[in-house]
Amino acid sequence: MSEQSLPAPSGELVSSAYRQALEVIASVEPRIADATRQELADQRASLKLIASENYASPAVLLTMGTWFSDKYAEGTVGHRFYAGCQNVDTVESLAAEHAKELFGAEYAYVQPHSGIDANLTAYWAILAHRVEGPWLKDAGVKNMNDLTEADWEKLRHELGNQRLLGMSLDAGGHLTHGFRPNISGKMFHQNQYGTDPETGLLDYDALRAKAKEFKPLILVAGYSAYPRRVNFAKMREIADEVGATLMVDMAHFAGLVAGKVFTGDEDPIPHAHVVTSTSHKSLRGPRGGFILATEEYAPSVDRGCPMVLGGPLSHVMAAKAVAFAEARTPAFQSYAQSIADNAKSLAEGLQKRGTKLVTDGTDNHIVLLDVSSYGLTGRQAESALLDAGVVTNRNSVPSDPNGAWYTSGIRIGTPALTSRGFGGDEFDTVADLIVHVLQNTEAGTTAAGAPSKASYVLGEGVADKIRAASAELLDKHPLYPGLDLS
Ligand SMILES: *Cc1c(COP(=O)(O)O)cnc(C)c1O
Repeated sequence: MSEQSLPAPSGELVSSAYRQALEVIASVEPRIADATRQELADQRASLKLIASENYASPAVLLTMGTWFSDKYAEGTVGHRFYAGCQNVDTVESLAAEHAKELFGAEYAYVQPHSGIDANLTAYWAILAHRVEGPWLKDAGVKNMNDLTEADWEKLRHELGNQRLLGMSLDAGGHLTHGFRPNISGKMFHQNQYGTDPETGLLDYDALRAKAKEFKPLILVAGYSAYPRRVNFAKMREIADEVGATLMVDMAHFAGLVAGKVFTGDEDPIPHAHVVTSTSHKSLRGPRGGFILATEEYAPSVDRGCPMVLGGPLSHVMAAKAVAFAEARTPAFQSYAQSIADNAKSLAEGLQKRGTKLVTDGTDNHIVLLDVSSYGLTGRQAESALLDAGVVTNRNSVPSDPNGAWYTSGIRIGTPALTSRGFGGDEFDTVADLIVHVLQNTEAGTTAAGAPSKASYVLGEGVADKIRAASAELLDKHPLYPGLDLS
């Protein structure tokens, strides 16, 4: 199976499956069936450039709609707190086996419900392995039930006083990497590394110096808005120098790892102790998370449910198994390569039309525009683009003068439109449409006439013109071709 593309189900088969499913739903709550139909129509009609979104295959989507949703299965394969989990065991072991094979990992845990849950599970697994375990051993305690209230007081103090070093939000890191408002910024003594203010690139020497001074228990690598590849071999060297556990959060770029676009030093799996991920971004699977780890960390990660997680979503684990099977194919590898090639075409298209990009380009799936040269905030640009049917999201740029709410950037990603079959020429046209909107948008004023960071004026007729041009591209590359609900 892994030698070729998987057979695609016929449009007629998929159409009849969804027509009948919607009929069943409509018999109970027609407004939900209507909203479901409308969501497909809206997704089909918009230029989806949100870097974290994608389109999963009908097989993945259909797998989520079954009676596996009805089963409780706390625990792990073969060790459940509920009876009758034999089929869930099949599903969970297959998903984990596929994940291990796909990524070349020693161990896989496919229960996390989302990327954030995967990170929280991983943090507590690392704390259990590196802090709680040794502490219990030192105290000569075999069974946690033997701990006195005074012992717990001490253990809580140990667990609550560890250090985490992650990439700052405005440099492209994720809020779960130690950002104050997130639980990770409260449960750890946190510190953040950034990027070089001139180039916008990761500065490994500065990171090493910070790590040596701060001595984190956990060094987190990974990002949501950094348009460049990361050298994970170097990250591991730094972690080793300071005795830190290296955790890589590949939520955004898991598809590029699975598709063998990131190899060698850019492949996190051989270098990290623990790797966390989502399954629904560039990997194109169901909405969910998973964790890969070395054998050393496996027993602690296995305790994720019920330590951190509620009962596993067996229907979603089943869909993860289907998505991992899809990602093992050469067709997926060529998809992943196209994601990166298309990002380059988009970046070049924007630059040659005068747009400033953070780090001057991209070598992954993300392009980060600095829209300040258009006299706009990220918020204004995001809204004007949306009016024209171009769906992006605003994002901070390094040392953003407009803060995390209004921002000065627009983040764009290529995974979703690449799934629709867009190539380099289409992405060059997309660049043209974006620049046209930005050039024809002016910052607005408040009701009192003061400069506003939110209001904007989009030139007359621009939205219609861009929508018509987008429709042409979108019609050429239909979403779920052959799927007809009428
Ligand atoms: C998207 C993302 C997450 C969170 O994923 P959810 O499934 O939304 O919880 C975590 N880390 C990174 C780096 C991400 O990009």
